[in-house]
Amino acid sequence: MGHAKPSAIMAVAEKAKALKAQGRDIISFSIGVPNFLPGEHVYAAAREALARDSGQYGSNRGADALLDAFLGHIERLGLSGYTRRHCATGVGAKHLLYNLAEALLDPGDTIAFATPYWTTYVDIADIVGAKTLLLPAPASQDYKITPAQLDEALAKKPKVYLFNNPSNPTGMVYTRDEIAALAEVFAKHPDTWIISDDIYNTLVFDGIGYHNIVNARPELRERTVFVDSLSKTYGMPGWRVGLMAGPEVVAQAVTTLNSNHITNLPEIVTAAAVAALAGPQDVPQQKCREFEAKRDIVLEALAAIPGVKCPRPQGAFYVFPDISCAFGKSHGGRLVANDVELCNLLLEAEGVACVPGSAFGEPNALRISYTCPDAQLKEGLRRIQAFFAALQ
Ligand code: PLP
Repeated sequence: MGHAKPSAIMAVAEKAKALKAQGRDIISFSIGVPNFLPGEHVYAAAREALARDSGQYGSNRGADALLDAFLGHIERLGLSGYTRRHCATGVGAKHLLYNLAEALLDPGDTIAFATPYWTTYVDIADIVGAKTLLLPAPASQDYKITPAQLDEALAKKPKVYLFNNPSNPTGMVYTRDEIAALAEVFAKHPDTWIISDDIYNTLVFDGIGYHNIVNARPELRERTVFVDSLSKTYGMPGWRVGLMAGPEVVAQAVTTLNSNHITNLPEIVTAAAVAALAGPQDVPQQKCREFEAKRDIVLEALAAIPGVKCPRPQGAFYVFPDISCAFGKSHGGRLVANDVELCNLLLEAEGVACVPGSAFGEPNALRISYTCPDAQLKEGLRRIQAFFAALQ
């Protein structure tokens, strides 16, 4: 634990909280929460489960009803041919990713992934004692890795490649053709396990659809683990439901870890998750359309700031503009030395909280999480524009 570093996301959140407590009007674009509630049928299912709760231990793998509802859900995503034995659950995707790292990596093994990355990937590697191999995917390449980069990385035979699509923090989504090209490279390198963290899979815009490497090259199924969660797509982050589908041996390993760590997901949570996955899908679909419209609001506001460059995200609920044009300038007499300082000054001067890109391994950017109501979103963006206009 001596390795653990203070989190840049938490530092911003703490500072925003302190300013709010002083009576400041703070707009937060910092935390990646979906900001909507699941449909009433989810709460009804939870209440019913509460009324009949057996209070007994449940399945280490996950209740059959939950695994079946998940299989139906991934079938809608085009992932067919999986059975309950290919599936397992976790207390959120985060827990599942830790379990997968424990199952697949020994100390000293290498795990590869792209930069910018979701912050926790680095911590997971650190905790299991794995080395990281980072593939730079800067704004100039739309925050996406290329097949050539992947080929070069996989030639070094990392034990695991951790893929994330749609991406947190960039919101970028690989197209069908891009997925096909990457899948081809993965197929060339049989020694690497693939974890596909696709928890934002139903939040994809512009009609480009969600695509998975397993659909592109079915033989990859033997070593690819698809990771999903109800947190972002169903508005259920606090219910803590993560799910996976992959090789039976991996699902069994995760089940065994569950039997030692958590035993099972709670019965009430399980009932709510079944209702979310198997019930009407209108709330997630509606939210996807709303987020797409919010994405457009953010992009329009950022396009009006000279020097700020922003690849067009097509999913999740994040925008990740390159704000390096501000470095070396000053705001109110204070130097904007880097992304962390910029986020500090933006918070102090305009009361807008964003996360510095260095939290995600990309110090030229900042992350805007745009799930708040439109009026707040527009006001926050107006303040960001004012901040940049005042730079000297
Ligand atoms: N993977 C990515 C890319 C995420 O952004 C997050 C949460 O922010 C997670 C996994 C973890 O999600 P959960 O709430 O299911 O633990």
